[in-house]
Amino acid sequence: MATEIPISTLFDLKGHVALVTGGGRGIGEAICLRLAQAGAAVAVVDMDETTAQRTAGRIADLGGKAIALQCNVAEPAADRKAVATVVGRLGGLDILVNNAGIFPFSPVTDTAPELWDRVLSVNLGGSFFLAQEAAKAMMNSGKGGSIINIASVDAFRPTGNLAHYDASKGGLVMLTRSLALELGPKKIRVNAIAPGSIDTPGAQAAMGAGASSGAKLEELLKGFLARIPLGRMGTPDDIACAALFLASPAAAYVTGTTLVVDGGYLVG
Ligand code: NDP
Repeated sequence: MATEIPISTLFDLKGHVALVTGGGRGIGEAICLRLAQAGAAVAVVDMDETTAQRTAGRIADLGGKAIALQCNVAEPAADRKAVATVVGRLGGLDILVNNAGIFPFSPVTDTAPELWDRVLSVNLGGSFFLAQEAAKAMMNSGKGGSIINIASVDAFRPTGNLAHYDASKGGLVMLTRSLALELGPKKIRVNAIAPGSIDTPGAQAAMGAGASSGAKLEELLKGFLARIPLGRMGTPDDIACAALFLASPAAAYVTGTTLVVDGGYLVG
């Protein structure tokens, strides 16, 4: 029957364990809080242990369960260790959110191989190796799970001076489809979210740096806003609500898709 799952349990994540990368601030922090609010135990993973602990503390203050882990997602060995630690301490892994990402503005002719490697290894490599480890844990449990990759509207429309980033996010959208194909038979759903312009500490810093390296901050912001039919920047919670949907039983038949959450930017 269509209404077999009551509304009250449609977004219920009690008994689930989630690992969220870049959970110390911005979009990742908001995702951690929403998943915890829905009842999941959350492993807050971040390069910066202090901010990871701050998010975990917020979850504990709200009555939820969380642990904080320091990890550079660009290192496959660290990814393996993070997943093993989460499985060991929280008893499994049901939801992986690959959110950690960097977006340093750099014109294509100035982009050094080191910057290319760093952006690709954090944004794309980290997501691949964490998904690989998470998939093994989800297969071992026999329960399957949900993997959510935070991509970007830049996978579909370039902002400018971000060719390295755009390549990583375009790759992440296709990685999502490839993993969905391969892992679907194991009951693992894999989806992506493509956020538009979201007001976070990272976005503010990147735009500030972009402005000082040629592009003008105000012009960048005005350019974005003019193209957003809903007329505002997004909030981290706008993305967290989409992640909650994709992680939840409400999205039980959704896999291989990229959910664009951009206030209409891509149609504007
Ligand atoms: P923020 O920079 O505000 O937060 C990112 C978090 O990820 C920080 O806590 C950062 O830690 C952490 N992090 C960075 N690198 C690593 C790493 N190698 N290993 C572990 N943690 C790391 O970013 P946003 O919240 O704005 O962005 C989150 C995601 O959303 C990114 O993937 C981004 O590309 C994507 N996105 C964001 C948009 C936006 O407008 N904000 C638009 C489209 C996509 P530290 O503080 O130590 O650097």
